[in-house]
Amino acid sequence: MRNVLVVISGPSGVGKGTLVRALLAEDDKLVESVSCTTRAPRAGEVNGREYFFISKEEFRDRIAANDFLEYDEHFDNFYGTPRSFVERQLKEKSVVLEIDVVGGLNAKRLMPKSAVLIMVAPPSLEELEKRLSGRGSEDEVQLNERMRRVRYELDQAPLYDYVVVNDDLQRAKREIQDIIRKEKEKTI
Ligand code: ADP
Ligand code: 5GP
Repeated sequence: MRNVLVVISGPSGVGKGTLVRALLAEDDKLVESVSCTTRAPRAGEVNGREYFFISKEEFRDRIAANDFLEYDEHFDNFYGTPRSFVERQLKEKSVVLEIDVVGGLNAKRLMPKSAVLIMVAPPSLEELEKRLSGRGSEDEVQLNERMRRVRYELDQAPLYDYVVVNDDLQRAKREIQDIIRKEKEKTI
């Protein structure tokens, strides 16, 4: 069986982080790549766990050093996937990236044979807004900014390999597990 680069995308608050945690807990042949970001940590976030929190200056230096497989700018901050970690891990395991659609499409372009693009969609926009505000991590302005980006993210779904609706968490998790199993069995 081959190892794959599983890209999980979808609007903020749709449940990507929750799903990825559940996937990792049940599969020791799956690892998550921790991205670098220049945004400030939210309450409870730990450096090296959710993200590596670095300065804009360091981020620019690392772009120049070709240290990122892909990177993008969101809400005035940079986010990027460390190249060496992904390339090293793929020799042993499948790797999951929780990144936005632009990053996902770039990852597919750079690693077309390994990348499997999965879009997580909300059951409805009302439910998405409820989850996002329920998480309590953004203020009103940030919340509105993120909701404006939702339509854009969901409109890219046809470019993705799979769309999984995160209605019931266990069901959505099983659907993603089936996709990963099927993709690992492919010979290409
Ligand atoms: P993302 O990583 O996509 O921004 P999170 O994983 O942080 O989203 O989830 C946002 C909120 O929605 C969290 O409070 C989480 O517990 C909740 N949530 C995630 N999946 C579901 C689900 N299937 N049903 C109800 N609530 C969910
Ligand atoms: P948040 O600030 O809510 O953690 O993330 C904001 C956005 O950045 C989300 O859409 C998330 O998927 C995206 N993101 C996180 N890490 C990366 C990355 O390494 N590369 C890219 N392109 N986007 C990322």
